[in-house]
Amino acid sequence: MNMRLRFAPSPTGYLHVGGARTAIFNWLIARKEGGVLVLRIEDTDRVRSSEEHTKVILDGLTWLGVDWDEGPFFQSEGIERHRADATRLLEEGKAYRDFTDMAAMRLEAKERGMHPSRVVREKMMDLGAEAAKQRAEAGEPFAIRLLVPDGETVFDDLVHGEMRFGNDDIDDLVILRSDGTPTYNLAVVSDDADMRITHVLRGDDHLSNAPKQVLLYRALGYPEPVFAHVPLILGSDGRKLSKRHGAMAVGDYADEGIVPEAMVNFLALLGWSPGDDRELMNRKELLGAFGMERLLKSASVFDMEKLEWLNGQHLDAYSDEELAKCLRGLLQEEESFCSELLDDVNWLSELLGVIKPRARKLDQLAEQARPFVCQDLHFDTKAVEKHLSRDPGAATQRLQGLYAAFGGADWTREGLEVSLRDLASQMEVGAGKLIHPLRVALTGNMASPGIFDVLYLLGRERSLIRIEDAVERIDLS
Ligand code: GLU
Repeated sequence: MNMRLRFAPSPTGYLHVGGARTAIFNWLIARKEGGVLVLRIEDTDRVRSSEEHTKVILDGLTWLGVDWDEGPFFQSEGIERHRADATRLLEEGKAYRDFTDMAAMRLEAKERGMHPSRVVREKMMDLGAEAAKQRAEAGEPFAIRLLVPDGETVFDDLVHGEMRFGNDDIDDLVILRSDGTPTYNLAVVSDDADMRITHVLRGDDHLSNAPKQVLLYRALGYPEPVFAHVPLILGSDGRKLSKRHGAMAVGDYADEGIVPEAMVNFLALLGWSPGDDRELMNRKELLGAFGMERLLKSASVFDMEKLEWLNGQHLDAYSDEELAKCLRGLLQEEESFCSELLDDVNWLSELLGVIKPRARKLDQLAEQARPFVCQDLHFDTKAVEKHLSRDPGAATQRLQGLYAAFGGADWTREGLEVSLRDLASQMEVGAGKLIHPLRVALTGNMASPGIFDVLYLLGRERSLIRIEDAVERIDLS
């Protein structure tokens, strides 16, 4: 039988990392096993769901490279089927009408030390099916509750093994509200059955829903899927991952310069292991190794350091052309960006060779590239203060000396180094005294790649203009 999996996000928020991991796991299994991945948007919460969130979720999946075979379907489209399932259970005596007022039931339950749903059941059983039917026909609103049978609900979970729940602990859950809307558990079971889903893989936060859903499958007589509940993702402090730990939405990571290959690799390793000590894996390697048998039982920790490390490794595999494309996208807003500089493939390759080791994320790469591809520098005020303004006389003299020395220099890294060192000995200062103001003049920053790389990449003309500009900046300050 063909495996059929689904990813079923609620469009009540952005695609967060937990959801993205669920999507990736389902996608990896579907692709590996030649199965089908269905995308279902669970939009039954009309108040909190929005089209904007749906769009962000779909964009997030596309960015991750998670494609789906069927859908997106919208849960709200199945509402008639959900109602029909609830009504059938009612007719078969597996569910009952609830006319009670919940607030009163809670109060009574408290007084009698019982669970509210058991009080409701008692009242409604006393009322009897015939009387309930008459009240319904007279137009009185009612909810429909599943009549949970006595005994135990037992099912297998691929991650957790055999799960046993005493039915005494399970409420007679509402499946259809008095306004005619289905509840989550009914809608999910009805949809999964309708979509012939064979495997339900999702986060541990749904483990407590699983016995209720199993009861519904059994009551409705639908074939049960295989369940796999993957453990939560924890923050570095061992607590459930939340906004407190930083970005939660996948889109935020994209904005921060994480590449999708790294995100997929990283998330695949949160709750699954390839069985050896491999960490760096591309999509093909993940597809080769992935399997439900090695889903982990213990919670996994979201380690930003590791994500950045993986990102740096995946960035290394990007071609110069791809990186140029990313840089163009990231720097296009800069007014003085000279994108044509990136067209020179040899220069581009030299530039990337120098800046790549200094960047683990795309935003860092853009930051490193900025002084080389944008005419206007962003001056770091501390750097200016320390190396230009504090001793303006000395800084001016040194920069002017460099200007003169470089004017006739051989524009190779070696030639430039010889010129600078000669000048330093003539001026009887250490090379650093020349390099620091020069770096600020050329890049605006305290730190940069090696100064001779910087000079070489900028070329004679641009380097000399920047030195001149820096001297002027000192004069004005
Ligand atoms: N819509 C649910 C959620 O976003 C998932 C339901 C499920 O996977 O069964 O948490």
